[in-house]
Amino acid sequence: MPRYARVSRKEVLDEIIRLIDLALDPATPIVYADRYVDLARRFSMKYRVRIPRRYKMFICRGCKRILRPGRTAIFRVRSMPRRHIFVKCMRCGHVYRRIVE
Ligand SMILES: [Zn+2]
Repeated sequence: MPRYARVSRKEVLDEIIRLIDLALDPATPIVYADRYVDLARRFSMKYRVRIPRRYKMFICRGCKRILRPGRTAIFRVRSMPRRHIFVKCMRCGHVYRRIVE
């Protein structure tokens, strides 16, 4: 994406999704994945486009790096006290829970 090009929100959103998808690809080294997530966040802030919730789940709220299930994060579905997804970052230890219906 050229630096000063005028871009639509749709284009920015597509780029953010593409970057996060790439970061989640098991073939992408973790160092690159962290860079892609960083870029996606920068685009999101610069163009004020929100990262969709289902993609945001894979970015650590503590260290802002990629949460790749089984590699850099633990994802568990738990039912007590309410049904939720438990996510723990294996690098900074940040824990969060997301209630699901
Ligand atoms: Zn973290």
